[in-house]
Amino acid sequence: MQPYETKNGSEYVSWLVRNPGGFVVNVAATLSPSYFVIHRSTCRTIRPDANGQHLDPEAFTQRSYRKFVAETEDELRDWGVAEGFTRIRNCGHCMRMMK
Ligand SMILES: [Zn+2]
Repeated sequence: MQPYETKNGSEYVSWLVRNPGGFVVNVAATLSPSYFVIHRSTCRTIRPDANGQHLDPEAFTQRSYRKFVAETEDELRDWGVAEGFTRIRNCGHCMRMMK
């Protein structure tokens, strides 16, 4: 399935809850080609509810950053290349053990 953007905080949080095995890419609101960081959907750094916090979910999708989601890491990576992102990275917290 093609990655797609969760366009607001409630759509984003709903997707995280429904897809615990999924992947999220964090990109700049400007879609800067040099910022593309892939996370697991369980990563604490991309979850408004991490560590018992109740952060505003809109801060994750509506301000400095946007989120695109997919079922697999490879779908996000292939999509990022096709969209012209030039610096694709894995999150240092949740993706350390992956290829
Ligand atoms: Zn992460």
